[in-house]
Parts: sequence; C-alpha cells; structure tokens
Amino acid sequence: MILPDRFARRLRSARTWIVLGVLAPLGMLAVSGLMLLDLRQDAWDKAGQTSKNLLQVIERDIARNVEIVDLSLRAVQDNLRAPGLAQLEPEMRQLVLFDRAASARDLGVMFVLDENGDVIIDAAAFPPRKGNYVDRDYFQAHKANRHLGLHVGRPIVSRLTGERMLTFTRRIDKPDGSFGGLVLGSLKLTFFSRLFDQIGLGNEGAINLYLRDGTRITRHPYLEADIGVNIAGSRTFDRFAREGSGSFVETSVRDGIRRLYTFARVGDLPLILNVALAVDAIESGWRAKALVIGVVVLVLCGLTAALSLLFGRELRRRAAMQAELAQLSLTDALTGLPNRRRFDEVFERARKGARRTDRPLSLLVVDADHFKRYNDRYGHSVGDEVLRCLARCLSASVHRPDDLVARVGGEEFVILLPDTDLDGAHRIARKVHAVVATLAVPTAGIGAGAVTVSIGLAVEDGVGGTAGGELYERADAALYEAKAGGRNQTRSATATKPRGAGPPMRLVAS
Ligand code: GH3
Ligand code: MG
Ligand code: MG
Repeated sequence: MILPDRFARRLRSARTWIVLGVLAPLGMLAVSGLMLLDLRQDAWDKAGQTSKNLLQVIERDIARNVEIVDLSLRAVQDNLRAPGLAQLEPEMRQLVLFDRAASARDLGVMFVLDENGDVIIDAAAFPPRKGNYVDRDYFQAHKANRHLGLHVGRPIVSRLTGERMLTFTRRIDKPDGSFGGLVLGSLKLTFFSRLFDQIGLGNEGAINLYLRDGTRITRHPYLEADIGVNIAGSRTFDRFAREGSGSFVETSVRDGIRRLYTFARVGDLPLILNVALAVDAIESGWRAKALVIGVVVLVLCGLTAALSLLFGRELRRRAAMQAELAQLSLTDALTGLPNRRRFDEVFERARKGARRTDRPLSLLVVDADHFKRYNDRYGHSVGDEVLRCLARCLSASVHRPDDLVARVGGEEFVILLPDTDLDGAHRIARKVHAVVATLAVPTAGIGAGAVTVSIGLAVEDGVGGTAGGELYERADAALYEAKAGGRNQTRSATATKPRGAGPPMRLVAS
C-alpha cells in the first residue's frame, strides 16, 4: 500500500498543513470573490431589465395619450374642412368639432386659433374664452412652416388656468393653402407626474422626459426648477440624441450622482424618455450581502489559516521532540557520547561499507584501569567526572568525520575507525594513551598520569570479512591480554583469519 503510506506521511508533515493553511483560504477567497462578482452582475442585470420594462410601459402610456390628443386635433382639422360647417351656428359648430375630444383624460385646453392667434372656438366653453397666442413659439412655427404636422411645444404655464402644460398643435390651412390658424390641445404636466408617481425607482432614481432639442418637459421626482431647463450639449443628452435608445452609466450633470440611464424615443414623437437608477441603489442590496459574505469568509479564512498553522507547528514540535527522543535514546547521558545502541548501528553499517569498498576497519576497545579504585577512593561522583574526562580525551584523539567514539559499558569505550589499517589504529591507540596521560582532576587531587587505560585493538581488512561479533571479540580478547600484561598498554589481534582456519589470532603488545 505505497500510495496510502505516502499519503499518510504527507498528512503528518507540518509543511503539508502550512501549505494547506495558505492554499485553502486563498481558494475560499477566490471562490467567494467570483461568487460576489456574479451576484453583482445579477444586480446589474436585474436593474437593466427593470429599467427597460419601466421605460417600455411609460413610453407606451405617453404615446397612447399623445395619440388621443392628436386624434382630437386631426378630427378638428378634418371637421373644419367639412362642407357647410361655416354656415352652422357657432354653438353647433363647437359641438361638431369637439365631439371626440371632450373625453381626453388630462387634457388641458383645446382651442381653434385664427390666423391672428385669437381663440375662435373653445372645446370647454361657449362663447370661447378670450385669448391671443400669436406670441407663442408654436404659433410662429406653424405660421412659418406649412409642413410641421403635429408640433410638440415647450412646456408652458397656461394663461387661462396657471397650470403647467405641454402643447400639441396642428396647422389649419385656408382653401388657398395660406395660414389659417391652428388647432391646439394641451396635456397637463400633472398627467406625467401621476404616471411617474406610481413607479418606485429606489433612492436617487429619476425619470426624465425631454424634447428633442434638450428641453426638459418634466422629471420625477418633480421639481419646479427642473422644468424647461435645456441640457443639450451635456454628455448624457448627447448620447440620448445620438443613439436613440439604449443604456449607459454616467454621472448626472444635474446632481453629480452616477446613474444607469436607460432611454428611448417616445413613438414617432420628438420626445426622449429616460429612466435613471442610481448606481448606489442598484448595488446597495449586493453591497450588504457582500459585506456579510466578505466578513464571514474572511473570518473563516483566518480561522482555517490559524488552525492549519497551529496544527503544522504542533506537528513540527512533535517531530522535533521525536527526533530529540531518538537522539537521546542513542546518547549516553553521563558523557554525551553515542551509547552502545548507536555504536551497534554504526558498527554494522561500517562493516558493510568496509566489505563493499574492500577497505580496512579498525576497532579499539578502551577500558579504564583499576577504575573501581577511583570510585572507592574518591567517591562515585569523582568517578563520574573521570569518565567524562576520559570521554573528552578519547574524542580528542580522533579527527575523521566517520570515526566514532562510544561508551559501551561502565568504564569501557570503543573507538571505531573506518578505512584505517593496523598502523593507523596503533597511531590512534598511542594518541589515546598520550592524551589520557594528561588527564587530571585537580579538585579531587588526581594528577596527570594517574588515570590509565588498556586498549584491545583488532582490524578487519575487508578481504573475506568476519562477523561483526568476531571483530569485537578479537578486540576484547586483545584488551584482556593488555590487562593481563600489566595494563596501560595496547594489544592487537594482528591477522585476520578466515573462520575456523587455525588459531584465531596472535596477540602483539605495543
Ligand atoms: P580493570 O583494570 O581490570 O578494568 O579494573 P576495574 O576496576 O576498572 O574493573 P572492574 O570491572 O572490576 O570495575 C569497573 C568499575 O567501574 C565498577 C564500577 O564501580 C565502575 N563504574 C562502572 N560504571 C560507572 C559509572 O557510570 N560511574 C562510576 N563512577 N563508576 C562506574
Ligand atoms: Mg576497568
Ligand atoms: Mg571494565
């Protein structure tokens, strides 16, 4: 089960958890960021669709009502040409002319003006209310141009009622084609207010109706000062006029608020209608959601990162502790040297290496002479100190990185010397004797030369090889000989013999 093993190892690795602690929050952030962008797009799509629907409904309503007014104007135009109309009584003539106009909703006034601008027929009164409109723009426009058709005037204040009106006029031609006056109908601006008031546009939303020349006819929410203002030349109106219909986001020239403008022409009329929703209002719902989601995601990301980092740190701490324990289990507590267990491991590896590379391997078994006496004479703690000093002496006697000094028993040490022949091993043994001769523990009254060691030395030359135990045994036997020979000396087992071939060794003093 290689894969699960590797997976389990990965899961135990601190680095895995630290990487997860960074990647998981990044992933969460990316996903929630995309989700928020998507939600924002939804809000904009919804606003765009709502604007379009509103625009369509309002545009149709206005177009229908203007058409009703225009139908009345056309009816009067037609009826004026009817034979015998001139012979009718004025009262009768009024009835005939305006029979289709009386019911028009939100109709302001409906007049027929003669070529001098005087009211000659009034749909709402008989005799007609007095008035002269020769000074009005629409009168001069029709007088100057025979082919204006339906003329939509600028919003005006009615001289009769004082109300704001939008005028619609058609020219009356005399039989010879010359200007014979005009028929006028008007819609009160309250018509638009009533229509727009039914619509909820959110904060800072607006509906505007313009004439093609940029004159604002009306606005919702209604403000007297906005009526009649010409915004031709502004960035927004330029686009209304140029593109006919569509939508865009722009900052209002009127109040500096950024809005989504959706606009269209009203039927075939010279009118431009727009519905404007404030960007803030479009995004406010989304912003509230984004804030909540953002805070929750950030908190979760923070928690995930913190927990993963903590877990990673804990795993790292545990790994360090395990490494320390493993190290401790291989170290001798008194001297800090590798212990027997460590020696066994290294010894085994060194023997294999020696065989593989066909290089000699030397082993020195070093034992303090008459150590029991130190304990008896100076006490156990001085004995311990002597052992620590001995450990330092032995360590100071070797210098190759692969050499190993270990404490394998009470006052017994080993020195393992890979790639070292008999001569090299003897050199080290001599060095050990020399360094130990300098060992002193002045506080206990132990002077230099008081402490001595005996060394048993054996070499495995790699050829044929012997069992590890046998190399150790030979060194140990040599040590025994050194002890028997009077101590403070080295004995070596000179030759490596194949197993069972004659006497195992010949001991040599040095
Ligand atoms: P020999 O020359 O034959 O080796 O004599 P010896 O006294 O050194 O050998 P022996 O094996 O009779 O005694 C070893 C002594 O080492 C016994 C014990 O008191 C002492 N010893 C073993 N381990 C420690 C230790 O950790 N601390 C101290 N202070 N003494 C120890
Ligand atoms: Mg001893
Ligand atoms: Mg001993």
